[in-house]
Amino acid sequence: MTDTLETVLGTQRSAFMSHLPVPAAVRQDRLKRAIAMVSENADALCDALSEDFGHRSREQSMMTDIAASVAALNHARKHLSRWMKADRRPVQFPLGLLGARGRVEYQPKGVVGVIAPWNFPVNLVMTPLAGILAAGNRAMVKMSEYTPVTSELMAELAGRYFDTEELAFVTGGVEVGQAFAALPFDHLLFTGATGVGRHILHAAADNLMPVTLELGGKSPVIVGQSADIARTTERVALGKMLNAGQICLAPDYMLVPEAKEAEIVDGLTRAATAMYPTLLANPDYTAIINDRHYARLTDWIEDARARGAQVVEVNPAGEDFAASNSRKLPLHIIRDATDDMLVMQEEIFGPVLPIRRYRDMEGAIAEVNGRPRPLALYYFGNDASEERQVLDRTISGGATVNDVIFHVSMEELPFGGIGPSGMGAYHGRTGFETFSHARSVFRQSRLDVAKLAGLKPPYGRTTRSSIRRQMR
Ligand code: NAD
Repeated sequence: MTDTLETVLGTQRSAFMSHLPVPAAVRQDRLKRAIAMVSENADALCDALSEDFGHRSREQSMMTDIAASVAALNHARKHLSRWMKADRRPVQFPLGLLGARGRVEYQPKGVVGVIAPWNFPVNLVMTPLAGILAAGNRAMVKMSEYTPVTSELMAELAGRYFDTEELAFVTGGVEVGQAFAALPFDHLLFTGATGVGRHILHAAADNLMPVTLELGGKSPVIVGQSADIARTTERVALGKMLNAGQICLAPDYMLVPEAKEAEIVDGLTRAATAMYPTLLANPDYTAIINDRHYARLTDWIEDARARGAQVVEVNPAGEDFAASNSRKLPLHIIRDATDDMLVMQEEIFGPVLPIRRYRDMEGAIAEVNGRPRPLALYYFGNDASEERQVLDRTISGGATVNDVIFHVSMEELPFGGIGPSGMGAYHGRTGFETFSHARSVFRQSRLDVAKLAGLKPPYGRTTRSSIRRQMR
């Protein structure tokens, strides 16, 4: 397998080198084909996603995987000519006056590797490709073994819309992932778990390969005293139940003012009930990806219960989930969540929502800062100075105020984590820059600058005055 991977990489790289530079028209054409690949096959992709998940809402797949991919690719198509323009940069006085010039040119890096997770299998391949292809690169993609039907279909579609010298898909599990991460790509984008991210960085070190790591974490929701509780709980419930909570940016746990806790639990229950009055046969509600994750989530709920949590299961129609093998899991609100519970130790990645009470905002901020830096942070409230305090005193990959998740869908906001939630960023122009090499180009003046500046031996008075000027 490794040989095959290396052969594909070798073929892509030599095709890349022999076709430099990569004109805007070629990039446009690749982006157009990427758009066609998903939009012309949207139905088949939604079916594949649903088969992989057991059930996945078609409308949700259309929104989160198809439309979101097309939007990102279209955005890149519209803007890439501007992004490709060299940036003129000032040069030190008096070189500019003597005719010297400095600029930054954006070159494609070459072949970019993409490793994708299972939760948004189409989106987390195509959105990176928007930046990768706009920057003029070729790409090899390894998708998750948890979504075999979608992965096979994407590989087949890529073969129809692209030459393997431009875009190649690789299928397989962890072993293939390891072999893939060991390849000497010109850049590797990994989206997945923090623990696996560590292995990726180790593997990349051997090739001194630049990496972007898009990882996970426990993204907190801080509810301020001034928050509108009905609006807050509706938005949190919507974000938490989208894709059944299997989102890297899902609100992981809530920090709420002590006196508002009951009202917040009521609001969440009401909002979840209104959106999903039934769950088992409800086409809008997505299932948990597989038995292992289902067992993990139900074990964590039991662990919380055993450690003294009050668990509120939002099951409006009183359905019997135990008797079904649908892997649908209702929203579980965990009241009195404590640090010793598994739900407060690991990223949840499912419809389970622990609630923690705080006395004052200092305490809430200290709690966030006592944990690893999260991928996202959410603040709800209408108190500008408190909002400023939360944003100034905490650090997270991104943040949304008065909603959850939304910042990821703004094409021009860089998306990425920090520390254990990731490194580097992409989306929009930032994606173009991540997958480009910013090459500095200096053009020297026709005049003998070295002599004029006293840089040429024999050194003398001009040299000394030039040194003095440099140090001013
Ligand atoms: P995962 O890390 O288990 O797997 C991701 C990919 O890596 C898969 O394709 C897998 O086959 C491959 N892989 C696994 N072990 C590997 C290894 N040792 N070397 C190389 N490749 C390997 O993650 P997952 O379970 O598919 O996805 C869930 C995680 O992804 C969550 O932690 C979530 O927060 C994170 N995530 C992050 C983002 C983001 O943009 N920051 C988006 C979605 C998911």
